[in-house]
Amino acid sequence: MKIYLLTDLEGVAGVATHVNHSYPDGKYFEDSKKLLTSEVNAAIDGLLDHDVGEVLVVDGHGPGAIDFELLHSEARLLHGRPLTTQQMLEPIWDYDALVMIGQHSRSGRRQGNQNHTFNSKEIDWIQLNGRPIGEIGVIALWAGVKSVPAIFLSGDEEACMEARREIPGIATAAVKKGISSNVEITLSAPEARSLIRRSIGEAVDSHRKNPVAPVVWEPPFRLVIRWKSTQNADIQEHQTGCKRIDEQTVAFESRDILDVLLHRHSKAN
Ligand SMILES: [Zn+2]
Repeated sequence: MKIYLLTDLEGVAGVATHVNHSYPDGKYFEDSKKLLTSEVNAAIDGLLDHDVGEVLVVDGHGPGAIDFELLHSEARLLHGRPLTTQQMLEPIWDYDALVMIGQHSRSGRRQGNQNHTFNSKEIDWIQLNGRPIGEIGVIALWAGVKSVPAIFLSGDEEACMEARREIPGIATAAVKKGISSNVEITLSAPEARSLIRRSIGEAVDSHRKNPVAPVVWEPPFRLVIRWKSTQNADIQEHQTGCKRIDEQTVAFESRDILDVLLHRHSKAN
């Protein structure tokens, strides 16, 4: 079994705030990178304990947040910036399953620690076919294009609930609970790591016995993006397939899910 392991930073135990922990000029950013990389290493240990043969780690947080020196010796790492959506996500299709470490919930979830959708400074919210959708749902749909299932996610409680709503059968591990956007109650770092190691192994076993289905939605698709300012709506309304709905909101329609997934945002963070 070959696993594609996508990382983010905001859903890691101890990484509590955008400004101090998750932005690259934050005073605890280097500490955050170590915390993330240790959770990733715990996940890799859990996968190797359960006879996974190959793990590709993908450094998914906006500016990158893997501490290369600390990374597990068995991992292969995809990183570098700028990283396009295709460069980051197309390799999923060469793997048997997707797992996500350090994930946060979609924007607008008040108990989602550091909740946001792709671009915390510019996107208010995104809907697909009338349903709010965040990064978890989008990535699961991307994997589903070539029938790759998402089998495990760690993050805060809100991210885990979102994953279970979007991806029936996924196993989750909550390493913290959001009190608000920049406040968390977290497990200790060692406890978060042992929870991830244990639960990702159980997820692999369970998937082998009772496979998690890939996430696939039927066309047509209607994506609606609510921007935080009129500026992005000004630009987007002139793109093919786009229609401005109001001052800050633009809709995009297509029958092709990849068109929709590639259309959605300007830049991730
Ligand atoms: Zn991030």
